[in-house]
Amino acid sequence: MSPAIEVTDLRYRYHDGTEALRGITFSIERGDCVGLLGPNGSGKSTLLLHLNGILPEKARNTGHVRIMGEAVTAESLERVRRRVGLLFQDPDDQLFCATVEEDVAFGPRQLGLPEEEVQQRARDALARVGLRDYGHRATHHLSQGEKRRACLAGVLTCKPDILVLDEPTSGLDPRGRREFKTLLREIHATRLIATHDLELVVELCPRSIILDQGQIIADGPTRELLNDEELMLAHGLERPHILRHIHPH
Ligand code: ADP
Ligand code: MG
Repeated sequence: MSPAIEVTDLRYRYHDGTEALRGITFSIERGDCVGLLGPNGSGKSTLLLHLNGILPEKARNTGHVRIMGEAVTAESLERVRRRVGLLFQDPDDQLFCATVEEDVAFGPRQLGLPEEEVQQRARDALARVGLRDYGHRATHHLSQGEKRRACLAGVLTCKPDILVLDEPTSGLDPRGRREFKTLLREIHATRLIATHDLELVVELCPRSIILDQGQIIADGPTRELLNDEELMLAHGLERPHILRHIHPH
């Protein structure tokens, strides 16, 4: 079976000349949960935006992105977007409807599902993220944590095979982070999670990829990478406290 995500020699340069990705190659098997680490500006968000074709194919300098074996191109975009649910780094980039219900139901409505099914999916997703009675609320009045959960609900309503999450716990308080982690653990899609939350990575992701300056500088078992103090410090990261008393296996 083809991998869930396959990226081959991906290079990407923004209009202003910034070389954000400089030859990225990796693949992720179906059902795996992988952490994407790296300092600010290392290219994490740029990479994730390629996975459901948000950055235009023609702007790529080289490289291929395949989702469940299918190349991401203008022709396959619609199918790819059904399969890949992307949670943006900034929830305000994701939420654009007036109410939570409209926002969460937007995806399945776009898919043209019957209204009854749309409503059912929206209710289920809201319950799943702990926002059961939030349907009528104005999205712009939600707290940061509520916004992130509403975004996740919106992604879940489309039942994606692959979840791509860009710093899902940033800006959350400790309880919010814990609840979000529990949620992510219970989702059995293939997951790729860009984050600075090393506890989340240790708890959820057996494998991690470290990016720096648009290149992959390490890819392997999370505990091994995070225990490598020299590697971590060289790339603007640090060995998390929770590993202090745990030996890599
Ligand atoms: P990360 O998510 O790891 O912080 P990004 O993918 O956001 O990294 O950024 C990678 C590089 O691309 C950085 O140098 C950043 O300044 C640059 N960059 C990001 N978005 C844009 C944009 N829209 N236009 C120009 N440069 C950008
Ligand atoms: Mg980013």
